[in-house]
Amino acid sequence: MDVITSIKETLGKAIKTGVDKSNEIVEITKLKFALSDIESDISKLMRDIGESVYEAYKENKEPDEEINANCALIAEKYEQAEEMRAKINELKKLTQCPKCGCAMDKDAQFCSKCGEKLA
Ligand SMILES: [Zn+2]
Repeated sequence: MDVITSIKETLGKAIKTGVDKSNEIVEITKLKFALSDIESDISKLMRDIGESVYEAYKENKEPDEEINANCALIAEKYEQAEEMRAKINELKKLTQCPKCGCAMDKDAQFCSKCGEKLA
């Protein structure tokens, strides 16, 4: 199973299982694993892009299309990572400050980091 399929399944399951406490912890753990997979994919793609750019420079050529494709892939992975962080926060009953992005308790009225009023 490729990474994206397994992530989609994990997310799907996380949504379906809802509020069962022991499942929550399992889902959080799974999501954290999936998230670190995505993050290492992003680093690898970044490295590939760097190499491609340097190769092109060395050969005195324009960087090729592979770079664009990899950039698009990275953008997609960043989106998935963001979705996962939101899901983890939701499972942990945390909310995210709209201003600084800091995670805190859902019941908090103000951000403990930047003081932004939370909805
Ligand atoms: Zn804040």
